[in-house]
Amino acid sequence: MEEQYLENTPIPKGHFYHGECQTGDHDVYMDVICPSTGAVYAKMPIATKEMVNLIVEASYAAQRNSDWATRAPRERAKVLYQWATLIEQNQTYLARLEAIGSSRPLHEVLAWDIPYIIDTARFFAELADKHGGYIGATQSNHLGMVIREPYGVVGAITPWNFPLSMAMWKAAPALAAGNAIVIKPSELTPFSTVYLAKLAFDAGLPSDIFNVVLGSGRETGAALCEHPQINKVTFTGSTQTGSSIMSACALTGPKPVTLELGGKSPQIVFADTKDLERTALTIAKAITGNAGQVCVSGSRLIIEKSIESPFIALLKKYFEQLSPGVTWHSSTTLSPIISQQQAQRIQSIVDQSLAQGAECLCGGTMFEGFGGAYFAPTLLKIQDEQNIALEQEIFGPVLTIQSFESEDEAWRLSRHEVYGLAAGIHSANLDRVMRGIRTLEVGSVWVNRYGRSFDHIMPTGGYKKSGIGKDIGVEAFEANLRSKSVLLEFEEKI
Ligand code: NDP
Repeated sequence: MEEQYLENTPIPKGHFYHGECQTGDHDVYMDVICPSTGAVYAKMPIATKEMVNLIVEASYAAQRNSDWATRAPRERAKVLYQWATLIEQNQTYLARLEAIGSSRPLHEVLAWDIPYIIDTARFFAELADKHGGYIGATQSNHLGMVIREPYGVVGAITPWNFPLSMAMWKAAPALAAGNAIVIKPSELTPFSTVYLAKLAFDAGLPSDIFNVVLGSGRETGAALCEHPQINKVTFTGSTQTGSSIMSACALTGPKPVTLELGGKSPQIVFADTKDLERTALTIAKAITGNAGQVCVSGSRLIIEKSIESPFIALLKKYFEQLSPGVTWHSSTTLSPIISQQQAQRIQSIVDQSLAQGAECLCGGTMFEGFGGAYFAPTLLKIQDEQNIALEQEIFGPVLTIQSFESEDEAWRLSRHEVYGLAAGIHSANLDRVMRGIRTLEVGSVWVNRYGRSFDHIMPTGGYKKSGIGKDIGVEAFEANLRSKSVLLEFEEKI
C-alpha cells in the first residue's frame, strides 16, 4: 500500500529555475525521509554556494529584464489568479506530494491547506492594483510624490511544518508587488514548493521570477540570505535561526527582514466560558493539530481552578481518542512528528519537566510500533513556574496546565519572558476580555476561538522574540515594497 502510494506520486527532485525542475546530475545529494514511515523516499540535490549564486543571478536578471515589475498590476494579478486556478486543478497531486513529504494528513491538506493557499494567492492578486503612493505637502513650486516599488529579489526561507502554506505566505505578496522570489524550503520537506513554483511558471510567470533552491539551512539557506542581489529576506522558523539570519542580513546588507518565529502561546480559560465542551475541544485541537508542530500552537493552558477537574477530563477524553498513522490514511487523526530528532527533542523536554516536578496526566512518551515518530498527546500539570515545559517551545502535542484563582493571576501566568506570538481568551465577560486584550503582549489575540481563520486580511506575526513584521494581510504586501521620494521643481507661474 505504502509503496504503491509513493510509486504513483512522481517527486520533482530538483531545484526549480529557468522555468523547469532541474533533475539532471548534481554534485551532492541528501536523503529525504518520509515522516509517516521513517523511510528514505527521495534524494534531494544540495545547492552549493555557486549554485545559489547562479539561481539568484537568474532571478535578478529576470526581475530587471522581464516585464514582471513594470507590467500593468492588473496583468500581474491575472497571473496570480491563473496560478490559483492551476493549484485547484492539480490539487490531488499537490496534496499527495505534501502528505508524503510532511506531517500534514492528506484529508487535511485537501480540506484546509489547498483551499488556504488558493485563497492566499487570490488575496494578494487582489492587492496588486490596489495600492499607491501619495503626494507630499511641499512648497508650491515643487511636486513631491512618494511612489512604491518592489525590492527586486526577495529571499525566503521556509520551515517544514506547513510547507505549502508557508511558501505561499512568502511568494504571493512578493510576486503581487512585482518582485522575484527565491525560496529555500526546509531540507525535510522540499518538494511541494518545487511544484508550486512550476505551477506559477505554467500560469504565466516569466522564467526565473519564482525559483526554488534546495539544500540545507546552514549552507544553502545561509548563502541565499547573504547573496548581495537578495534585497530582502523573509523567514519562518525558530527564534535562534531567525536571529542568525538577521545577523547575516545585517552583515551582508544591511537588508530588511521579516521574521515569523517561535511561540509559547497561552490559552486562558475562565469559569464563565460559555460552553465547557466546546471550549475544551478548541483547546485540544489547538495543541494536537499537526501534532503541535505549529508556531501558534496553544501550548499553555491557564485555567480557573473551579473548572479545572471537569475540563481536564474533557481534554483527556479527546487526547486519548486521537489515532496516529501515516498521513495518507483517512483514519489518521494524529500527525507524525517531522523527524526522529524532533521527537527526541520533545521527549527530552517532557522528561526534564517531569524530573522538575510536573505531573503527567496522559501521554508523555512516543507511540511504539511505527516506522515514523509519533508522540502521544500529553498533559502536564505544573506548579513550578520555572519548569522547562513552560519556558521552551516544545513543538509537539504537549499541553501544560496551570490554574489560577484571580483574573490578575491569570494575566500574570500568561506572560512569557521570551515569546509573544499569540494568545487565546475564553470568557463570556466582555470587560474582562478587553482587559486581557490590552494586557497580553502578543501579536494575535483570539477570543472564544483559537487560531487563524481564512480571513487573509488579518496579519500574523509576533511581539518580542516571536518575530519582526507580519505575514499575510495588507501589511505583508506592503512589506514587499520600498518607497521612493520624488521631488519635481517647476516654474511657479506657468
Ligand atoms: P529552523 O528554524 O532551524 O529551520 C527553519 C528553516 O530555516 C529551514 O528551512 C532551515 O533549513 C533553515 N535554516 C536553518 N539554519 C539556517 C541558516 N543558518 N540560514 C538560513 N536558513 C537556515 O528550525 P528546525 O527545523 O531546526 O526546528 C527547531 C525548532 O524550531 C522546532 O522545534 C520549533 O521549536 C522551531 N520551529 C518553528 C517554526 C515556526 O513555524 N515558527 C517552524 C519550524 C521550527 P533546513 O531545514 O534545511 O536546515
